[in-house]
Amino acid sequence: MPHKIARIALDVPLPKLFDYLAVEADLGPADIGRRVKVPFGRRLAVGLLLEMADTSDCPPQKLRRVIETDRTRPPLPADVLALFRFCANYYHYPIGQIALAALPTALRRWQFQLPPPRFRHALTPAGRRMLPDSLPVRAVARRRLAARLAAGPADSAELGALCSNAATVLRQWHEKGWLESVHRDKAAPPPVRPQLLPEQQSACACITARLGGFASFLLFGITGSGKTEVYLRLVDEALARGHQALILVPEIGLTPQFTQRVAARFPDTLISVLHSGLAEGERLQRWQLAAEGKAHIVLGTRLAVFTPLPELGLIIVDEEHDASFSQQEGLLYSARDLAVFRARQRNVPVVLGSATPSLESWHNAEAGRYALLTLPARATGAQLPELGLIDTRIEKLDEGLSRPALKAIGDTLSRGEQALVFINRRGYAPVLHCSACAWVAPCPRCSSRLTLHLREQRLRCHHCGHEERIPAHCPACGNPDIRALGQGTQRVEDALARHFPDANIVRADRDATRRKGSWEAMQAQIHAGEANLIIGTQLIAKGHDFPNLTLVVALDADGALFSLDFRAEERLFAQLMQVAGRAGRADKPGRVLIQTGFPQHPLFAHLLAHDFAAFAKEQLESRKKGELPPFSRQAVLRAEAAKLDDALAWLQSARALVPAVPGVEIFEPVAAPMQKKAGFERAQLWLQSPARADLQQLLREWVPRLHAQSARKVRWHLDVDPAEN
Ligand code: ADP
Ligand code: ZN
Ligand code: ZN
Repeated sequence: MPHKIARIALDVPLPKLFDYLAVEADLGPADIGRRVKVPFGRRLAVGLLLEMADTSDCPPQKLRRVIETDRTRPPLPADVLALFRFCANYYHYPIGQIALAALPTALRRWQFQLPPPRFRHALTPAGRRMLPDSLPVRAVARRRLAARLAAGPADSAELGALCSNAATVLRQWHEKGWLESVHRDKAAPPPVRPQLLPEQQSACACITARLGGFASFLLFGITGSGKTEVYLRLVDEALARGHQALILVPEIGLTPQFTQRVAARFPDTLISVLHSGLAEGERLQRWQLAAEGKAHIVLGTRLAVFTPLPELGLIIVDEEHDASFSQQEGLLYSARDLAVFRARQRNVPVVLGSATPSLESWHNAEAGRYALLTLPARATGAQLPELGLIDTRIEKLDEGLSRPALKAIGDTLSRGEQALVFINRRGYAPVLHCSACAWVAPCPRCSSRLTLHLREQRLRCHHCGHEERIPAHCPACGNPDIRALGQGTQRVEDALARHFPDANIVRADRDATRRKGSWEAMQAQIHAGEANLIIGTQLIAKGHDFPNLTLVVALDADGALFSLDFRAEERLFAQLMQVAGRAGRADKPGRVLIQTGFPQHPLFAHLLAHDFAAFAKEQLESRKKGELPPFSRQAVLRAEAAKLDDALAWLQSARALVPAVPGVEIFEPVAAPMQKKAGFERAQLWLQSPARADLQQLLREWVPRLHAQSARKVRWHLDVDPAEN
């Protein structure tokens, strides 16, 4: 009997498929890509059928049966399965773990429920006549509902917040014929499309000419140069051809503003927005609309690169340099690189956009692998912000703020404009320090210090989440005089509140925006001009367009200038360019002040000149000398254990298993830069090669040996093209 073996991907850390008997489940090759339920050990597991075979290496009596097949939905398409395979081969990661991680979480369980379809309640003409006049005057909550509905359709969640028994009231009003359900707001205003500038025009023409085949583009233009406008035109072209467009954005780039801008441009198009903050059912529903080809625009963060898209015609990666495209844990993949792979596989164009492209992409453009398209100026005609340095060796700092910075903030506020103070460190202060014995509060589980959170009266580790109370005296010498050193967002907020008691200050960092919806509320506040002084981390640096914001002050950027991580300067440059891009976007000129103790550093010269190309040239030269990426390819094997020696010893034995491949350099195992994290000692082993193919060949032989090697005391993983040291 042919095809009696089903080969199934399971969420198990082994780099293989698992064989099961297919007969009773009546599985055939046409079922490849379907979900199946199988016994695994003593439990039941959800898997994905990836292959059918006639024979198995397992003895037949040991094979178990597939229990059930999900035929309620179509199988995953072949190209998505091929993407899983590519990922497994390139990142040398178990295919089952990739495949199941790429599915919406709801599908990782056998049973799931789709939420009821979302709709909004809208007043009917009868409802308009009756409400609120037919309500008793005392019915405050119901009157509130009626008032909200009179302003336009609203969903149940929003109305539920206005009235405790909203569900009952709404049902009654529906029954009376006062309300109807609408699936979208009718009569959206017609979209406004600006006349393209010549450079936008030619960028669009270049890319549009290649629709229908693979081509890769790097769209390079400063913040405000009109990249998004180009994306929107391209999406328009793709939609006109009946295609789906996939737009990938970084985690924090997916602002309501961006989503609204896309929605406003395409009022008649179904858009699936996919991000990690969605409820399970919601995500599944949106994923499904994309997979069925109903959602023509898919706007998502990195995991969206795996979405089935039957009519895919265009891929856009906005802020392609952003680190959040690189997954930080589990499968370590670059969504940007996968997007390029997928574009080639599906024979569609891919557009990578950035004001500060990654040096990898810049190098690819120089080598002719990506076509470089440049937007040289701000699209609105606004001038570039004027950048200046404040030398902190000369200027005295008051809680991290220099006099010129304070003056500039004061001037800005008194003109009725908004100012942003950027500091990429949340909490009150990064160090709690004893002046008598130099003790600093350490994290007991990490090689790092605890951050002081004064508001919450806690010390917190930003690496592992450890928390403790603030000690009353120094635990080492008993000295009661322990002090906060350095600045975090909370301390800067306090200092600014002292200096500018009349300002309306908001603090935008992860602590202040943890509550659901608070970040959206904060953005609305800034837009409405209710807040005029903003303190923020990189959270605020991306994708926002606050027209009245004319001053940006960046504090304390110096740490990255002398980092051991060879990418630190690249990241700092991108980050400063990005915050600088917040200043003066509309008709008012912007100003950016950067406080530094190293004003002579070459990075600042390029930054002040707004010259990314010169910065990239210099960086690439030094990367070339150091044989660093993109002039070489790297992989790092990381191991962690309770004792550093165990991690090092395991890496040493792993090193002994490395097959000889000429051209690949294999380093000695060393302790990780941050040796201890969350209670584990960490070590790593680097490999590097000028040729990607050589490194890949080595990994193909080596990684199976690693899986075969016992690893009792250690946890390990391989990171291919690591984004961090
Ligand atoms: P980016 O994505 O590069 O930051 P945007 O596309 O958001 O740039 O454009 C910046 C601002 O300029 C936006 O307010 C946008 O509406 C406006 N804009 C873009 N292109 C044009 C154009 N051709 N004419 C007038 N305004 C434009
Ligand atoms: Zn002390
Ligand atoms: Zn810690």
